[in-house]
Amino acid sequence: MVDACDIVVVGAGPAGLAAAEAAASHGKRVVLIDSQPRAGGQVWRHDALHGQPRVAMDAIRAAAGNANVTYLEGTQVVAVEPERLLLQDARRGFHLAYGALVLATGARELLLPFPGWTLPGVTGAGGLQALAKQGWPLRGKRVLIAGSGPLLFAAAATAQRHGAHVVGIHEQAGASAVHRFAAGLWRWPGKLAQAARLRLELARVPYRTGSIVTTAEGDHGVSGAHVRGGQGDERIECDLLAVGYGLLPQVELAQLLGCALEPEGAHARVQVGPWQATSQPRVFAAGEACGIGGIDCARVEGHIAGLAAAGAAVPRALVQRRDRARAFAASLRQHFALRDDVRGLANDDTTICRCEDVSLGAVRTHTDAREAKLATRCGMGACQGRICGGALAELGHGPRGGMRPPLFPTRLATLGEPVLSSVSDTRGYTP
Ligand SMILES: Cc1cc2nc3c(=O)[nH]c(=O)nc-3n(C[C@H](O)[C@H](O)[C@H](O)COP(=O)(O)OP(=O)(O)OC[C@H]3O[C@@H](n4cnc5c(N)ncnc54)[C@H](O)[C@@H]3O)c2cc1C
Repeated sequence: MVDACDIVVVGAGPAGLAAAEAAASHGKRVVLIDSQPRAGGQVWRHDALHGQPRVAMDAIRAAAGNANVTYLEGTQVVAVEPERLLLQDARRGFHLAYGALVLATGARELLLPFPGWTLPGVTGAGGLQALAKQGWPLRGKRVLIAGSGPLLFAAAATAQRHGAHVVGIHEQAGASAVHRFAAGLWRWPGKLAQAARLRLELARVPYRTGSIVTTAEGDHGVSGAHVRGGQGDERIECDLLAVGYGLLPQVELAQLLGCALEPEGAHARVQVGPWQATSQPRVFAAGEACGIGGIDCARVEGHIAGLAAAGAAVPRALVQRRDRARAFAASLRQHFALRDDVRGLANDDTTICRCEDVSLGAVRTHTDAREAKLATRCGMGACQGRICGGALAELGHGPRGGMRPPLFPTRLATLGEPVLSSVSDTRGYTP
């Protein structure tokens, strides 16, 4: 039973779980919120076939199972007001006041449109992984994975564990960049061990560098893809095609709160100080929302943010661990920087906004994403520009601009709800 809330943590991925546990262990009453039906975030998403790794179950139990933590699963933050959040779950909308806030809202995939990318069977690389874990049948399917970054390996391994035949992994970065990245991994032994494990698991899967999917083809669904690389152009037969060009920080909630952002390539991340404080008083941020850094970085930043939000001292050793983890993030950005030719794959007929069916040609004449949105409805659909906004920014159409509430499509009944002073009637966490 919780009578009042000292700290709200938004996001129950590795960063949010660490923040909730740290704050709760200092006696703070914490409400942990996640829009997903189960805790774990992206990397620890529950796998219908294989469950969750022990490290994830331990982290979830330590946070969501803590007596000082009330865990609200399947609950979205849809808007903010001074000192309180507007939340929505499947049954109702409600306000929740907070003393301090930790934003651990994570990342989403960067999808860059190319001819055929809207065919059934074409997904992001992380998207394919999420679908597989949720039970989408992959057994016996030929899967081609492409794009950029270590997530391609994680997605391929998940697909293979679900019985798919992975016909290839195509990385856009050149061989020398990938080799330099691999050669520097000794500085992060955990990452080196993880990379070695994945490489072994995927030993039979062809891995190509400097290779880009240019087109997907098929009548009712994808049946093959054209790939351009060092060996020229080739067509590869596949039943599923998963293409992801890395990750983007989810900063929309921070934007609504007025937190300062800073550039992350063509995109933005939440600006934080040494103790994960944002530019807004009593608002902290941790994990991929502060820049793409991987799970170790998310966990240590969450720990720091939870301590700082609770007003507890932050040990120096944690700050040093965070700085080492952030150095890994910088190495990722440097070695998997996108080549210019991946930004030139879409032509005027290529759909850029899937929700509103808007082609690149229709938005090309506008100077920025906001103007394009007003003229074409690009970004006004169900995903609220989360997919096309990232693509347009990457293609040079500028940032999406300011964020307006609601963050997600919201029921009318959610608006005008009373402030919730007790969250004891929620379902809570069952270990
Ligand atoms: C699709 C995908 C797959 C990935 N797979 C892997 C992998 O296999 N291996 C790996 O090492 N890394 C993977 N990553 C990278 C991964 O994001 C990080 O390493 C790690 O999960 C980051 O932790 P986090 O806590 O910062 O964010 P996340 O794990 O992304 O957690 C953020 C949480 O915040 C919640 N949230 C966001 N906004 C709101 C809101 N307004 N209201 C309520 N809840 C909200 C989300 O539902 C999510 O659960 C993947 C990333 C993505 C996008």
